[in-house]
Amino acid sequence: MGVRYSGFRVIAEALTGHKGWKPVWRDPEPKPDYDYIIVGGGGHGLATAYYLARQFGQSRIAVLEKGYLGGGNVGRNTTIIRSNYLLDGNEPFYEFSLKLWEGLEQDFNYNAMVSQRGIINLIHTDAQRDAFTRRANAMILHGADAEMLSREQVRSMYPWLNFDNARFPIKGALMQPRGGTVRHDAVAWGYARGADMRGVDLIQNCEVTGMRIDNGRILGVETTRGYIGAKKVGVAVAGSSSRVMAHAGLRLPIESHVLQAFVSEGLKPLIDGVMTFGAGHFYVSQSDKGGLVFGGDIDGYNSYAQRGNLPVIEDVAEGGMALMPAIGRVRLLRAWGGIMDMSMDGSPIIDRTGIEGLYFNGGWCYGGFKATPASGWCFAHLLARDEPHPTARAYRFDRFLRGLMIDEKGQGATPNLH
Ligand SMILES: Cc1cc2nc3c(=O)[nH]c(=O)nc-3n(C[C@H](O)[C@H](O)[C@H](O)COP(=O)(O)OP(=O)(O)OC[C@H]3O[C@@H](n4cnc5c(N)ncnc54)[C@H](O)[C@@H]3O)c2cc1C
Repeated sequence: MGVRYSGFRVIAEALTGHKGWKPVWRDPEPKPDYDYIIVGGGGHGLATAYYLARQFGQSRIAVLEKGYLGGGNVGRNTTIIRSNYLLDGNEPFYEFSLKLWEGLEQDFNYNAMVSQRGIINLIHTDAQRDAFTRRANAMILHGADAEMLSREQVRSMYPWLNFDNARFPIKGALMQPRGGTVRHDAVAWGYARGADMRGVDLIQNCEVTGMRIDNGRILGVETTRGYIGAKKVGVAVAGSSSRVMAHAGLRLPIESHVLQAFVSEGLKPLIDGVMTFGAGHFYVSQSDKGGLVFGGDIDGYNSYAQRGNLPVIEDVAEGGMALMPAIGRVRLLRAWGGIMDMSMDGSPIIDRTGIEGLYFNGGWCYGGFKATPASGWCFAHLLARDEPHPTARAYRFDRFLRGLMIDEKGQGATPNLH
């Protein structure tokens, strides 16, 4: 068992030169076989391993990660958590996730800087106010929190917004006070540490390059560190979903696209919550160091590159300027991209496959960070009990076949619009 963190421990280490801190997870050699192999050491894979061990009492678990833990989207996102969804298939799941975020730091004894600073979605037309009111009602019916703000209430929060923009006047907002941000890579580290403390082998620099399948059943995976056998294999590789599942001969209703994020130079406190522009794709929050953290649309073409293109940067900057003309002279310090697993209806998949012992978790689009705790919990439930968790029942492969799409945005089967 690793060291338990506490205020007392921090003070004791401060007085003794911080010499007592140890690495927070081991670096084990892969064993010849496991009961469970989780492919992908991102947030979802690590959370799955953690809950398999802690919640479902399972052991002999390994997480195989081709790079380093947290090097994927879990460490590249804009850190927003919320449960402001409309549809029955989604809202209970994301509310379950938000409730797990609320107790997460105590649960895995790690400071993930969960900050429920509130999120507002700006309203620019009367029709949009109707749509957001409907959404707020759906949220409240599912036990989430939601408030409709008037234009004057928004103005009292952020007087510097461009309320009278001729094309996109601000008419109010939908607010979820319990939404907010979480330090993204600390989530990966917290789950990794918690899983390691419960005996999970976290194996980095171990890419899955093939799957051994016999008679419709998975036997194990080929990796860059040799063959590893497993009774059950759960794949949670986000943007690499199609590539990894192709090893099992499966084609997915998923495309990979780049999503970019941006951070400005440090500014004095300007925005204390999270805000989204309702007339374009732009959202923003301010980091604890003062940088504005913002993002927008995915790049519209398929790609596995973790960097994006200039037209989207321009589009995001235009959105930002329409809303916040004050940022016109602010300098951009950093920009990067992550590979998004865009599903055909914009909603995820947590399901068995037609191959016995092989399970899949993906299709998170650009909203999977907030889902990390619930995704891990529900995937662990599916792996351990072989039945879907009640809140993730709708996230099945066959919903496309059966016409039961969870099309939150109403954009149809067009991944680059979701
Ligand atoms: C710029 C950006 C902004 C975002 N903003 C938000 C946000 O504000 N809120 C929100 O909710 N979501 C957001 N997201 C989405 C969110 O980050 C993802 O949906 C989520 O992190 C995906 O799950 P993951 O953490 O498990 O993925 P990842 O961290 O990408 O984990 C997948 C892992 O699988 C590994 N892997 C791939 N192939 C193999 C293989 N063959 N063998 C072994 N390992 C393999 C990868 O190396 C990677 O580490 C954003 C994403 C990006 C890129």
